[in-house]
Order: sequence, then C-alpha cells, then structure tokens
Amino acid sequence: MSNRRNVAPNDLSAFWMPFTANRQFKKAPRMFATAKDMHYTTTDGRQVLDGTSGLWCVNAGHCRPRITEAIQQQAAELDYAPAFQMGHPKAFELANRLVEITPEGLDHVLYTNSGSESVETALKVALAYHRARGEGSRFRLIGRERGYHGVNFGGISVGGIVTNRKMFGTLMTGVDHMPHTHDPARNAFSRGVPEHGAELADQLERIVTLHDPSTIAAVIVEPVAGSTGVILPPKGYLQKLREITSKHGILLIFDEVITGFGRLGAPFGADYFGVTPDILVTAKGLTNGVIPMGAVMVTADIHDAFMTGPEHLIEFFHGYTYSGNPIASAAALATLETYREEGLLTRGAELSEYWADALHGLRDCPHVIDIRNIGLVGAIELEPIAGAPTRRAFSAFLKAFEAGLLIRTTGDIIALSPPLIVEKSHIDFIAETLRDILTGLE
Ligand code: PMP
Repeated sequence: MSNRRNVAPNDLSAFWMPFTANRQFKKAPRMFATAKDMHYTTTDGRQVLDGTSGLWCVNAGHCRPRITEAIQQQAAELDYAPAFQMGHPKAFELANRLVEITPEGLDHVLYTNSGSESVETALKVALAYHRARGEGSRFRLIGRERGYHGVNFGGISVGGIVTNRKMFGTLMTGVDHMPHTHDPARNAFSRGVPEHGAELADQLERIVTLHDPSTIAAVIVEPVAGSTGVILPPKGYLQKLREITSKHGILLIFDEVITGFGRLGAPFGADYFGVTPDILVTAKGLTNGVIPMGAVMVTADIHDAFMTGPEHLIEFFHGYTYSGNPIASAAALATLETYREEGLLTRGAELSEYWADALHGLRDCPHVIDIRNIGLVGAIELEPIAGAPTRRAFSAFLKAFEAGLLIRTTGDIIALSPPLIVEKSHIDFIAETLRDILTGLE
C-alpha cells in the first residue's frame, strides 16, 4: 500500500513559497488567475493594476500576443537543443540583437536562466578573466551595503542585505562592501538623482588601498538599487566608481537586472548615467518576465582573454543546461521586437516628469518621510512604527491590493515600477489610490 498522501489540488501547504511569510499568506491567500496589459485579475474576479511590473520584469505589459505566439511557435518547432557543443540560430540572433542595444563595447553574451545566475556568471567570468591573463592574485570581490544580487552564494556574499545573509553562516571569503548611498538627511525628496554623496565612491579607493589593488578582481553594483527600496546613485558617483576601477585594472560589473530594458527611460542604466561597465548583468525584462532567462554582456577584451590556447580546449568551464534555450530565445527576440516597435526602451523618459509630479504630490500625506523617483521607478518611504518596523508599509500593501493596486514593499519603503506601457490615467490611479491609503494608515 502506498504511504503517499492524497493532497487536494487546492491545498496550499506543499508549496513552500519564496520570500513570503507562508503561515500568514496561507490564511488569506492572494491569487492571480489571468493578466492582460496593465492589469491582473484575481481568482475571485477583481482587477488589480500592476504597479510593479510583476517583480520588475513585465516591462511590456502582460500577455502580449507577439511574445505568446513566438513561444507557442518555437515550442512546436524546436523545443530544446543541447546547450553544449550544439547550437540553434535563435540564440545567436538574440546575442546579435543584444549587442546592438547594449552600450558600445559590450560585444559578447553569455546566457543564464535568472538574475541570480547572471550574477554568479559575471563574478566567475571576472575571476577567470584575471587568471586567464596571468593575474590570479586578483581574487577579491567588492559589493555594497544594501545591494541585492540574487540569492546564490556569490550573490548573497557580494550583496549587502543582512536578512538574506545571516541565515546561512559562512559566505564567500575575500569579499568587502562599500557603504550604500541612501542619505535621507541630505537628499530627502530629491527629484531624480540626488545631489549629495558622490564622495561615498571614495570609499572604494580606501578599500582598494587597504587590500592592495593587485588583489581585487571586480566591483559589482546596481546602478539604482531596486529591491532594497530604490536607492539612487548621487550625481557623479558612478562616474567615480568607473574612474577608480579603471585606474586599478579592476572590472566594473553593473547588475542591471532591474535597471535594464527601459526601466530608467533609457535602454540601460549604463546609458542613463553615461557610464559603461566591463560586464553588464541582465534578466527579468529580457523576456518580459514570461520565460526565465538572463544574459551577461562582456567586453571584447574579456571575451578574447579566454580565446587563446589550444583550439580543442573548452574556453570557459561554466554554463547551464538551459543556456540560450530555444523557447527562451524566441521569447526574448519577440520581447526586444516589442520594445523596439513601441519605443518602450525610452518611453520612461517621456513620462518621467508626469510620474515624478504624481509621486511627489504625495509628499504631504501622513507618515511620508521621503519620496524618490527615476525613469518609471518610484519609492515612498514611510516612518516606521516604533517597535514594529515594516508593519506600516506592509499594511499599505494589503490595503492597496484590496483597492485594486499591486505595489511592493521592502522594509518601510513602498516601491513602484509599472509596465512601460503605462498611461497617464494609470499613473493618476496609482497616486490617488496611494493617497487614500496613506491617509487612512495607522
Ligand atoms: N539582481 C538584481 C539587481 C535583482 O533585482 C534581482 C531580482 N530582484 C536579482 C539580481 C535576482 O534575480 P532572480 O530573482 O531572477 O534570480
């Protein structure tokens, strides 16, 4: 007799949900049944405006027919091809398209299946690059406090989120962190990039000197930190990081998993800030969030360092079963075509003033201690309830969901990032709904 349990299809206990208070969620689950363009529909038939592009990924809006059809067609034609020692045309075509739309100099692409894997890939490329050039002494990696680089071991090691790190004991050694750039005392209610704090980049020089430049492989930052509450780089800060890394032969990695594909009103954060990294990490918006896929862009210099040595040797011992998966490649090609045809990679620039006005119009609401905006990203920081941090913002999240608006909260910060097809009327709805909610919050 089988000892397996029969579990009803609607039983919620088996799925251990990620980054979710499982016990709380399962008492009052929030479920989506369908989605179209700017909206989700819940399983009980309510419309919810997507104020967060899912998890910062559905940049072209939901269930776009071009992407859906591309996936269906690819699944029927070539579902899978071995990722090693075999190819298929779409993965190459996609790489060429990515080289066309990413900043000049980033000429080669490695594929992954997520942002976390893109980060690991970037860190491993950086370490292996220095070794390939005979500089194996460069083993240290430098991240930043409040940086989020996914959940794998390299990513949480260079990342700077205490809660994501402390459950796991020893992380990677040889990692140091720069200070974050969140400075409400000097920069609260800045519109766009804040004025103060470029000198924080000098901390990199201090860390580099402390360890000796010849030991440092790479520095990784998000141009705008998203998951930790939309932390913007002060004016001139990223330029300084670029100068310091170039001066010392250290690779600069931009984690653009969130800032890529039009989120800031430019194709990439690198374009927006006019700073080109040596390695650019992407995922999310690459396929409009529809199929898991990431891509890591590297310079010709990095790529070519692996291309020496005997021809029969594998050049880089790294890759995934699903690297450049045909269905993911087809989804990404259709996504990039949608972005191109609808001008979505720069649409945020057209709307960013309207967006900024709408958000900053909430400045007089109760509990609001800071508002930040850039491109089509926004953050509203609330004063925490004494002794109960996060509770106020989470209560705003629950109320917004009831009122038909999906927002994200991290700590006591509300983060917003609507799909790039958002219209002014949607922005008005977001601002009005938030005004009502903030006014009624404990
Ligand atoms: N890097 C950044 C900057 C991210 O925001 C995220 C996800 N929010 C990741 C990496 C990890 O991506 P994934 O969840 O696809 O592994």
